[in-house]
This record gives sequence, structure tokens and C-alpha cells, in this order.
Amino acid sequence: MPELPEVETIVREMREASLLNLSIKKAEVFWERSLKRPSPSDFCRQITGQKILKIDRRGKFLVFTLSEHTLLVHLRMTGKFIIGGDEIHPHERIRLTLSDGRILRYEDQRKFGKWELVDKAESVLTDLGIEPLSAEFTVGTLLAFLKAHSRALKPFLLDQKTIAGLGNIYVDEALWMAKVHPLRLTSSLTKEEAKLLHQAIRHVLTKGIENTGTSLGAQRANYFSVSGRRGSNQDELKVFRRDGLECPRCGETIIKITVAQRGTHICLFCQK
Ligand SMILES: [Zn+2]
Repeated sequence: MPELPEVETIVREMREASLLNLSIKKAEVFWERSLKRPSPSDFCRQITGQKILKIDRRGKFLVFTLSEHTLLVHLRMTGKFIIGGDEIHPHERIRLTLSDGRILRYEDQRKFGKWELVDKAESVLTDLGIEPLSAEFTVGTLLAFLKAHSRALKPFLLDQKTIAGLGNIYVDEALWMAKVHPLRLTSSLTKEEAKLLHQAIRHVLTKGIENTGTSLGAQRANYFSVSGRRGSNQDELKVFRRDGLECPRCGETIIKITVAQRGTHICLFCQK
């Protein structure tokens, strides 16, 4: 569930928490399958003693540049980081003890999240598409992508190989804002629609970051930032999980349909 704005918030909070330049004193793996590679014993042995040089985001991946390797973490549905707290939480899967004594805990209730310790980040990240908030992502780039494909808009936007970082929440919001139906064929969008969609994608992501992410519900499995803070972007959502409520633009009832096996929230009046 964490998408670009949530992962970006986590990265920023980790930097603010002064994790940079600390070393990893000890690593413990409580759930082996949270590690994609290497094996738990190799992971613990290799990562111990390495310094955290950089913390970045690429798409929905957290990228930790360490002194020898790169650690890539994909949170999937319910993965989250928490700094501090001694007791092992029932959903805690991996824990790193840092050189200043603090503990970086990784919890993941549904266990879909994955950690990988690799020599080169590119070996994993090479398939990712463009960063939607980068200068390279222009209306022209988007229009070229749209014309190069002939598929439904929503699965196209969710495909990390084209544009990296968008997920269900921000795609539904962007499509509503741009007034396009999620099942429209990409190649059918006009230049004007592409321009609106480009603007909408940037807008919803930027807002999401400003609001430090979207936290739906109050349960522990939901998105919380590293400091345990809830985001506030859920208060700004216009259609996502608002089926049965009024469209804030036209007053028609928002409905929920299924597109590419994903619950999709639209206003049929605004999104033809
Ligand atoms: Zn509407």
C-alpha cells in the first residue's frame, strides 16, 4: 500500500532521524521470507559492520547505499519501519541494531514486503520506469508513452516499468482529477487530456508528500511513518474509498468498479 509519497516520507524521516553515517552493529531476521536474498545467515554476516551512506527512494523502493552493498526494501502491503522499542513485536520480521544503540525495526503484518542485499542496485532497479516527479517526466514524455501503448489507462499507470511509484490510491485520484475513465485506451487520449493527466499525477503525488502520506484506518497494519505519525492525505482524497459519497466536483455518487483486479473509484459523470 505505501506508494511514492509514503515511501518518500519514510526516506525523509529516516534522514531526519540521523540514520546516515551510522553503522549496523547487529542484524536479526525473525521471518526468513522477508529476505529475498541472500540467505539470513549471509545477510546478517554481510550487513554487520556496514555504514549507511545514503537513503533514497526509487519508485516504491527504499534504497540504502551501504559501504559495501546496497540494501533494497519494498514494503508491498504492510511493511513499515519503526525506530526504537526494545521488545520484539509479533509482526517484526527484521531488526537492525545501529552503532548509536538505536534499533531499526521492520514490521510487516502480511509479509509481502521484501529485503534484498545486493552488490549493485541497478540489478534490481533497471526495469523501473520514469520518476513522475522528475524533470524528465514531461507532457511530451507521457504523451509518447500513451501513444506507444494500446491498453487500458489504469493498468498502464500502475505498471512500474513505465512510470515508477504510482499505486491504486494515487492513480484513482489522478484519473478523477484529469477527468478520464480508467478503462480508456491509452492511445485514445488527446494531447489536452495527456496534459491534464500529467498535471494531475504530479499534483496528487506532491500533495501526498506534503501531507506525509495517506493513512487509511487506524490499525497498526496501516501506513505510519517511521516516527509512528499518521499521514493526513486521506483527508484530501476525492474518490478513493469514497464510493457511495458525493463527487466533490459534480455531486454525482462515486462508484466502485473493478479494473485489472483492483478496486477502482470513479465518478461516471466526470470520467466518461
Ligand atoms: Zn463528478
